[in-house]
Amino acid sequence: MFSYRHAFHAGNHADVLKHLTLVATLRHLMRKDSPLTLIDTHAGAGIYRLDTDAAQTSGEAEAGIARLSNLSASENSKQNSSQTHVYQAEKATGSIATVLQDYLDLIAHFNPTATSSAPRVYPGSPFIMHALMSEPERAAVHDRLRLFELHPTDIQALSAHVAQLHAGRQISAARQDGFEALKALLPPPVSSGGSRRALVLIDPSYEIKSDYAKVAAAVQDSLKRFATGVYLVWYPIIPRPEAHSLPRRLKTLTQQAGRTWLNATLHIGQSSQGSGLTASGMWVINPPHTLKAALDEALPQILDVLSAHRGSGAAWTVEQGD
Ligand code: SAM
Repeated sequence: MFSYRHAFHAGNHADVLKHLTLVATLRHLMRKDSPLTLIDTHAGAGIYRLDTDAAQTSGEAEAGIARLSNLSASENSKQNSSQTHVYQAEKATGSIATVLQDYLDLIAHFNPTATSSAPRVYPGSPFIMHALMSEPERAAVHDRLRLFELHPTDIQALSAHVAQLHAGRQISAARQDGFEALKALLPPPVSSGGSRRALVLIDPSYEIKSDYAKVAAAVQDSLKRFATGVYLVWYPIIPRPEAHSLPRRLKTLTQQAGRTWLNATLHIGQSSQGSGLTASGMWVINPPHTLKAALDEALPQILDVLSAHRGSGAAWTVEQGD
């Protein structure tokens, strides 16, 4: 039934936008000492090797996170003239945006023995969330992570990867429809301090047309169950009517619920082959007040690197409203 495998796409430009937004949002939420329920409705395999046939065949990580990682590495090796394009953003602004550096440091943390700047391992959203919730200054708070994945191979891989974390009941991974599972998890439990806090990542592959309507329905239902949750929805920007109308639909639903929103998009421009996904967006409900400024600083630097050697259409946007 499912042909989509995230292993072919891990670390591409869409993951960069999604995971950068996730890191920036979580960092802000984690400034408060009360526990969070983190829910990943479409978790994938959790963590990926970039030296496998899947990643090498698609070349998506190479054109995404591998290029960006040069940006960080260039701090140490500015002599390498073949990397000239990666310095442009730094030249323009003087330094790497804080949230981008934070994200790149996190990826580097998963690649401690890498001899070059190119990462061999890429953490998916489950491992990114786990890394942040288990940092020494956060670990005592005991956030919970709930993961859902339907693909038989990916749930097996995810469960094996999660088992290696030895995180006990703090993390669970289930072979379940993430849209359905969400209903039972909201509102999240009250913490001992009396607060309820949750971040929900909704990241389907949209390989089935009905995913667009399911995303909208899940957001509408979730806002009824838990209006103050922070919701992050990834969506592709492709010439398809359902894709085109999804951000508009999400805006209407968010406004009807009286909540604030942020919409970030990244278009990396056409490739010479002219195929493949070139743009995507993140819709965030109840975004941290710091998110817009963080993305405004990081996205032009990312675009500068990822759109090099590509044709027209490169652009980024960050809008917010209430
Ligand atoms: N969130 C992951 C990350 O950022 O690392 C990537 C997820 S990938 C884009 C989407 C995943 O959702 C695929 O692994 C697919 O098998 C899975 N999937 C598709 N429909 C699903 C559903 N209804 N419930 C749960 N998982 C689903």
